[in-house]
Amino acid sequence: MTDVLIVGAGPVGLTMGAELVRYGVGVRLIDRAPHATETSKALVVWSRTLELMDRMGCTQAFVDAGLRAPGASIRSGGKVLGNPRFADIASAYNFALMIPQRETERLLAAHLRSFGVEVERQVELVGFDEAADGVEVCLRHANGREETLRTPWLIGCDGAHSTVRHGLGLAFEGAAQGDDWLLADVRLDGSSAPPPDEIATYLHRDGPFVIFPIPSGRARVVATVGRTDAAHPRPDPTLDDVQALIDQRAGGFCASDPVWLTNFRINERKVAEYRHGRVFLAGDAAHIHSPAGGQGMNTGMQDAVNLAWKLAMVVHGQAGTSLLDSYSPERSAVGDLVLRNAGRLTDMATLSNPAAQAARNLALRFLLGLHTVRDRMATQMSEIEIAYANSPLSEGARSGVRWDPETYGGPPPGAGGEPRFVLYAADAARGAALTGRFPGLLETTPRSPPDASGFFLVRPDGYVGLSAGETGWDDAERYLRALQQSAGRTGGHAS
Ligand SMILES: Cc1cc2nc3c(=O)[nH]c(=O)nc-3n(C[C@H](O)[C@H](O)[C@H](O)COP(=O)(O)OP(=O)(O)OC[C@H]3O[C@@H](n4cnc5c(N)ncnc54)[C@H](O)[C@@H]3O)c2cc1C
Repeated sequence: MTDVLIVGAGPVGLTMGAELVRYGVGVRLIDRAPHATETSKALVVWSRTLELMDRMGCTQAFVDAGLRAPGASIRSGGKVLGNPRFADIASAYNFALMIPQRETERLLAAHLRSFGVEVERQVELVGFDEAADGVEVCLRHANGREETLRTPWLIGCDGAHSTVRHGLGLAFEGAAQGDDWLLADVRLDGSSAPPPDEIATYLHRDGPFVIFPIPSGRARVVATVGRTDAAHPRPDPTLDDVQALIDQRAGGFCASDPVWLTNFRINERKVAEYRHGRVFLAGDAAHIHSPAGGQGMNTGMQDAVNLAWKLAMVVHGQAGTSLLDSYSPERSAVGDLVLRNAGRLTDMATLSNPAAQAARNLALRFLLGLHTVRDRMATQMSEIEIAYANSPLSEGARSGVRWDPETYGGPPPGAGGEPRFVLYAADAARGAALTGRFPGLLETTPRSPPDASGFFLVRPDGYVGLSAGETGWDDAERYLRALQQSAGRTGGHAS
């Protein structure tokens, strides 16, 4: 039974598939590529993504396979301008987990397989038509056979050149950043090489040069290398090119043993709406931006977590389709924020005017000397402060924010096989009566709130939906009834 067709088995499609299947939704996950990514691509998994994976049940495998980076450095002219540390990130995962994207995909695919679902490879989405009660899709298999399938819901996790986005005729608003960037996965040796677990950025008058640690003793090197017009793409770099950049912008160490040498350009683009009726976009299909801050893949995986529990509740008839209306405003606002922040970091690193560069370096030296500024930077990158304050699902003064894992009082909300809100209320008997009236929406047993006057409904993705005080009971009743409205009428199955 296919409830949901997911197109694209990159990190976002795999997360989407694993979350939906965990919640008992029938999925097909197709990818036109014959095999998964073989390169390192996105290297960082941040704290909030690891917390969300706790609910999925796969964080430990990632932590075991990755390398913990405890901090970063920003250097210029042989001096360290500042050292943001990640130790103060308010999360059990207070580090940047360095892990190549091929490993991330391998672990997510293994997790998905543990639920009995395999990625269907060499199956391409070639077109689709949306109707009121479902989406008719055309799939092409490796042998040329075309298959028509009717699916209640279609999710495009099909990357920057998304067929689903094109099929919806959506604008991918934005622009290219302009610089050519070199990317090299190499070994670095020499007494002046940065510590092997540090993300090191060198700000040089000719442009930035960044080193990211990779497990197994390698490092990713990224640097601007000038501009070419799109009609004459730059040939892939050589190891000598990498060494020349090291000598020019950092100095004192040697690159060897390259496994990946390429160029890339930064595009900063986003769609305005992530949902169109029964069709959704997530990940690079909806937003692409500078890799500065390593947010791209993390943001996409969090899109998937956000949508999966909502869709599962609708498919199972626990909630009405209006629950899905919150997906686009919540995640589009996060996409805007990530685009803005990554764009600012890139602009700051690529300043070309010498006076502006000197002012930037002075300002950085001062600001990064301040504990609060270093903390802010680390916290922002970790994504633990992402909140849905303006969401149609957020009600009350303390709503929309991440429910601090330290105050769970039990397993993380959403960790079981069924997506349920968790009620935190001091009056256990009244709480049990409420959960009894909404068994499809609430976890059976209410939990104690962190303070006795607090009253919260926490969503299955660990964000506060409703926060209330004395009047909490009536507000909760109304909130839950609104979620239930029209439940079961439109989320049907298709074979
Ligand atoms: C060189 C490079 C370096 C990068 N470095 C970083 C980094 O350091 N940090 C970071 O956060 N991000 C980085 N990224 C970006 C990161 O790789 C993406 O954000 C991430 O892969 C997005 O995941 P996704 O699942 O949305 O899309 P993708 O990983 O692009 O997956 C999309 C999948 O959809 C499939 N597909 C496409 N069309 C169809 C179709 N019609 N039918 C069936 N299947 C289809 C594709 O085969 C593909 O497997 C980098 C990317 C590149 C290219």
